[in-house]
Amino acid sequence: MSSLRTDDDTWDIASSVGATAVMVAAARAAETERHDALINDPYAKVLVEGAGAGAWRFIADEDLVAKASESDPEVGALFEHMKNYQAVRTHFFDAFFSAAVDAGVRQIVILASGLDSRAFRLPWPAGTVVYEIDQPLVLDYKSSTLAAHGVAPTAERREVPIDLRQDWPAALVATGFDPARPTAWLAEGLLMYLPADAQDRLFAQITELSAPGSQVAAESMGVHAPDRRERMRERFASIASQIDIEPMDITELTYEDPDRAEVAEWLAAHGWTAQAVPSQDAMRRLDRYVEVADSDGQSFSTFTTGTKL
Ligand code: SAM
Repeated sequence: MSSLRTDDDTWDIASSVGATAVMVAAARAAETERHDALINDPYAKVLVEGAGAGAWRFIADEDLVAKASESDPEVGALFEHMKNYQAVRTHFFDAFFSAAVDAGVRQIVILASGLDSRAFRLPWPAGTVVYEIDQPLVLDYKSSTLAAHGVAPTAERREVPIDLRQDWPAALVATGFDPARPTAWLAEGLLMYLPADAQDRLFAQITELSAPGSQVAAESMGVHAPDRRERMRERFASIASQIDIEPMDITELTYEDPDRAEVAEWLAAHGWTAQAVPSQDAMRRLDRYVEVADSDGQSFSTFTTGTKL
């Protein structure tokens, strides 16, 4: 169970859960620079650079990885797996939005949007409104940084600065969201930072606000045995000390709840169609799967999509 979290904790971009948004943006920046990139996020780099120094700097730094690999040969594979995972995840959810707008959806809600720059980088059809929900300081950081670089949104973008454990549906509606119109919802990199009951509440609220034809996509982590979590924590702490970075212990920020609902099962029981894709399958499809020791053959996560009946 999370040891650093409280029911009403807050953060900025460089602390606690906020810093995880920088980590994943750093992975998107690194992927964007590859000659065979699966995604193009031209704004990830400036968003990472503006966030200051942090554990994310190892993501793009091949020398640091090589140094850490000297004493732990698995580190290279682990880092490659993590970076590929992020690229595949972004690719998967970019495709989700592309299919949603092809189906005529023009109302988008990105939950816990962090440094997601889709409202600035995807080719949204005219008339699309993108709502972004996250903590106030996280949204402030993203919009001020992109504005300072002259980057404008490619859709009408509306910020909803509120914690998702509070009454976000009221805040969303107050910003102009129309529950009578079909919506495409995304929960990427979010659910593990919510307790299981808050996850159930979140999907109940999404369901309540979703007109027929609405679509939802979510990333959910598998539950790992405590001894495996401990081994991973020790491994990352050791890597961090070798390459002289502050360790970022995600397990202290997440809620690993064994009774957490399976998203696809929950959706199917509440008026949605649902399909679940293990992340390993999505990675193999794009030829980006890298075997890592100690994974017990398990997928890191599941990508679920659904349509409201
Ligand atoms: N979805 C973004 C992406 O994939 O790039 C950000 C993912 S980042 C790993 C986690 C994000 O969840 C952070 O931006 C954090 O502020 C947000 N978050 C976590 N719990 C939240 C909550 N209770 N309310 C609002 N935002 C939350």
